[in-house]
Amino acid sequence: MIKLLLIFVIIYFCFKVVKSTVKSLGFNVAKSSQVNTGHGNIENVMIQDPVCNVYFAKEDGVCNMIGGKELCFCSEKCRDKYLAAH
Ligand SMILES: [Zn+2]
Repeated sequence: MIKLLLIFVIIYFCFKVVKSTVKSLGFNVAKSSQVNTGHGNIENVMIQDPVCNVYFAKEDGVCNMIGGKELCFCSEKCRDKYLAAH
């Protein structure tokens, strides 16, 4: 019975180690799978804000469909400025 418990503990620890390993690797796997969908590459690209000319990651910006075109800004402030000017 004690032996069984010991085996269970060993399995539990192995599971924990594997889980933490997968977790640390999982981020990379998720990122690369995102790239495989074809959109991941675009999402990580640096783009320029047309209002303040600052470069930022698209995923950090504010993107809106404006005049049938997707435009991305570094912040809502810049988007509002752009909308006010156009
Ligand atoms: Zn801006």
